[in-house]
Amino acid sequence: MSNQFGIQRRQSAQVMIDGLPVGGDAPVRVQSMTNTDTADIDSTVTQCAELARAGSEFVRITVNNETAAAAVPRIRERLEAMDAAVPLIGDFHFNGHRLLSDYPACAEALAKYRINPGNVGRGEKRDSQFATMIEIACRYDRPVRIGVNWGSLDPELVVRMMDENARSSSPRPADEIMREAMVESALGSALRAEELGLGRDHIILSCKMSGVQDLIAVYRLLAARSDHALHLGLTEAGMGSKGIVASTAALSVLLQEGIGDTIRVSLTPAPGESRTREVIVAQEILQTMGMRSFAPMVTACPGCGRTTSTVFQELAEDIQGYLRDQMPLWRETYPGVETLQVAVMGCVVNGPGESKHANIGISLPGTGEQPSAPVYIDGEKVTTLKGPEIAARFKTMVDEYIVERFGGH
Ligand code: SF4
Repeated sequence: MSNQFGIQRRQSAQVMIDGLPVGGDAPVRVQSMTNTDTADIDSTVTQCAELARAGSEFVRITVNNETAAAAVPRIRERLEAMDAAVPLIGDFHFNGHRLLSDYPACAEALAKYRINPGNVGRGEKRDSQFATMIEIACRYDRPVRIGVNWGSLDPELVVRMMDENARSSSPRPADEIMREAMVESALGSALRAEELGLGRDHIILSCKMSGVQDLIAVYRLLAARSDHALHLGLTEAGMGSKGIVASTAALSVLLQEGIGDTIRVSLTPAPGESRTREVIVAQEILQTMGMRSFAPMVTACPGCGRTTSTVFQELAEDIQGYLRDQMPLWRETYPGVETLQVAVMGCVVNGPGESKHANIGISLPGTGEQPSAPVYIDGEKVTTLKGPEIAARFKTMVDEYIVERFGGH
């Protein structure tokens, strides 16, 4: 079935993660990952709670050693006690088979295990260590993500496929073989997991690459060759605007084609920057594409020579921040508030028109215009604000609109 924009979601096998459906007809979910030392319980709990409160539906934590594995159940308990419970996904590399075997409370506390087939082990050990992890997933009825990453792709598989290609009568480009090797690694591991007893409804796949065109190509291939639920993410997207733009470009193309059941935006935070940025960007990708709503959105004009005042910029920023900050509380109190559209415009050229399209909008005075600001509610002009209190009074009107429209449910 397609949505109102004609986007037909690829039909994948639905997976339940701690009671939350992923894939099938479930909405595309937002995931994030901590960057704290998991063994540092206080820091990890704090960050998981921040990510959960920002709206992350799953939080992945690295489980890289025994101290980290021992910390996982305590992290989960602490999150539950502070009313910030969120399904935790354990990220395992190299020693996951041992940690999951030796720390059953960790295996039980996690909602899902992420297994990187390139980092499970080499040679004969690889199959037995992979099997151990899958058997534990079956025992605890936990789904797994088979997460291939091109930075840690199984070297034996790559060498074999590159050799076969070199011997063929019409060899194909190496990057094409690399993408096929990624898909082969994911599908081969999924098949082994199914042979070991893990159902398709317990398997999510991902093939992360750091190039936008590579990522799009590899997921198209993966989507065409499997009906497993897919987790999308551009790996090592980078910092700041580059990371956001690259992730948005890659994920948007795939989402528009109906590919993707969970997403993560792998941003490198600036020093001191909140980890929640990756959650907000992921939500904004889905919301601006019309796929889900997470928080009210403010439409603001970019400003130009027709307005020399910074009032509209300050008001737009102030209101966007205020609306987002209130969301943890408002989600419960004002259901549906996430669909609210607010417009803050700089002058009369597009101000009234854009304001009329929003639920509530204001057109501030441009240079040389009368110092008055008409306010529109649901397409109708309701008042004109004047004087130095324009911004404060408009914020009050937004609050009143929210209470009236979304309160009382
Ligand atoms: S609405 Fe007015 S101030 Fe804003 S960009 Fe358009 S012309 Fe410029």
